[in-house]
Amino acid sequence: MLKRWYKKRLKPDFRVKDLFSIDWAEFKAKGIKMVFLDIDNTLAEHGSRQADDYAQRAVSLIKSFDFLICILSNALSDRIADYAKSLNVEYMAQANKPGIKKILQKLAELNIQPQQTLMIGDQIFTDIWAGKRAGCVTIMVEQRFANEAIQIRFKRKLERFLFKRYENR
Ligand SMILES: [Mg+2]
Repeated sequence: MLKRWYKKRLKPDFRVKDLFSIDWAEFKAKGIKMVFLDIDNTLAEHGSRQADDYAQRAVSLIKSFDFLICILSNALSDRIADYAKSLNVEYMAQANKPGIKKILQKLAELNIQPQQTLMIGDQIFTDIWAGKRAGCVTIMVEQRFANEAIQIRFKRKLERFLFKRYENR
């Protein structure tokens, strides 16, 4: 039962190393229009206010395929606003993932279907869960930095447990 629940609700559609391991051209060809991007440990080190070189390059790459980009973070808006500004992309802070209210709002506003969007993040229980609930295509990246708060480390343990048990079956 847990396995079915995992596969249906939580299993990322794709797992990749980082934002440069994604075949953006392929997603473009498949009709993807928009990319929701998590910040902490997907684009940036936890707590960053400024994009580093990795994030700048990744966002330029995504923009080069003409995807709309919206940063979607559970963190407070003051920091996320600064961060998004450093990349010149749209953002939604305090997104409350795995809640999907903000995602659906944004899609309705832009008249984009969930299946035309990618949700990219480093955590199952926030990013991927939200993406799957909303109906987006979900991509899980490896976390960029290792030091994390205790509650996140706990979620990592659960993620590893689920992967180990169910990933290849
Ligand atoms: Mg994250």
